[in-house]
Amino acid sequence: MVMTRRGFMGGVLATGGAVALRACGPSETVAGEDGTPWRPAYLKLEEAGGFAERVEQAQEVFEACELCPRRCAVNRRAGRRGFCRASATVTVHSHSPHFGEELPLVGRRGSGTIFFSHCNLRCVFCQNWPIAHEGRGREVTDEQLADMMLDLQRIGCHNINLVTPTHVMPNILAATRIAMRKGLRLPLCYNTSGYERVEMVRLLDGIVDIYLPDLKFMDGAHPARLSDARADDYPEMAKRAIIEMRRQVGDLVTDRDGIALRGLMVRHLVMPNRLAGTREFVRWVAENLSPRTYVNIMAQYRVEHRAFEHPPIARAITPQEFLEAMDWAEAAGLTNLDRRSLAQRDIYRRRLRG
Ligand code: SF4
Repeated sequence: MVMTRRGFMGGVLATGGAVALRACGPSETVAGEDGTPWRPAYLKLEEAGGFAERVEQAQEVFEACELCPRRCAVNRRAGRRGFCRASATVTVHSHSPHFGEELPLVGRRGSGTIFFSHCNLRCVFCQNWPIAHEGRGREVTDEQLADMMLDLQRIGCHNINLVTPTHVMPNILAATRIAMRKGLRLPLCYNTSGYERVEMVRLLDGIVDIYLPDLKFMDGAHPARLSDARADDYPEMAKRAIIEMRRQVGDLVTDRDGIALRGLMVRHLVMPNRLAGTREFVRWVAENLSPRTYVNIMAQYRVEHRAFEHPPIARAITPQEFLEAMDWAEAAGLTNLDRRSLAQRDIYRRRLRG
């Protein structure tokens, strides 16, 4: 059964917080397949003496910001802002356990989600537009961001799920190191639109354990029209970044309870009128990553924000569109499809095909 946030909080109240909100000591926070304490990548990098230098390298990028393919080259440390409108101080909308993510992230106690404000892509159909487009949230120091991570660990979340992290990556690295020194032991989950520079993804090597990128479009003509970034280079940038992510962390590895510890998980939202290029997407994954890649083909496209201004995407997808996407995934030989996608497929099949 999938636990909703309301169900989770109800359980917390019913038990007085004794079970679901018990404090986790660092050594018992995450266990590997054999039950032994599991260690996040950043802890090993710290022990090897490389973490502090990596934080410095990332922070230097703020001086002529090229964190993402927009390459605005503005000095964010001096208060200038580029396309994403973010300063050098991180803005956070919220941090809380989240139960709507993929099941290996959610587990029993939720994914420790931190929503960052602003975005370097800004799709016209964005479902988080008040946060991503309007930048709603409050500015926090890196120390406060570290405390949020520790809060999420304290209440039992299985990971730190960094939503839209690209434009604040240096703050995230600095905060993670502060939190690590105070006892953070959860894996970082880098939950990105995929609009990344591969050079910046390389800075995350040995720090991030779980990558959760979107691959939204396979044809640059669509993000050129459907994102404020006019990102006709989106498919190329995202594919290069995802190949690098897989090089770093490989296929998904879980603990004995099926909870994600390390690896790549790719999301793809089926769009109306085949705009996402789903057939090309599944073939690309099978040929360039691995047929064993964890893939979530998502059915929840809805007309949000300014999508109604674009007739090809001004409607929901049909069950037939989702079914053909899942059929293509099967035909491409993908063997690790998200369980909720498979359940959705089975419901539509029963309804349409009897
Ligand atoms: S992160 Fe923001 S300022 Fe930096 S290059 Fe990207 S859009 Fe421009």
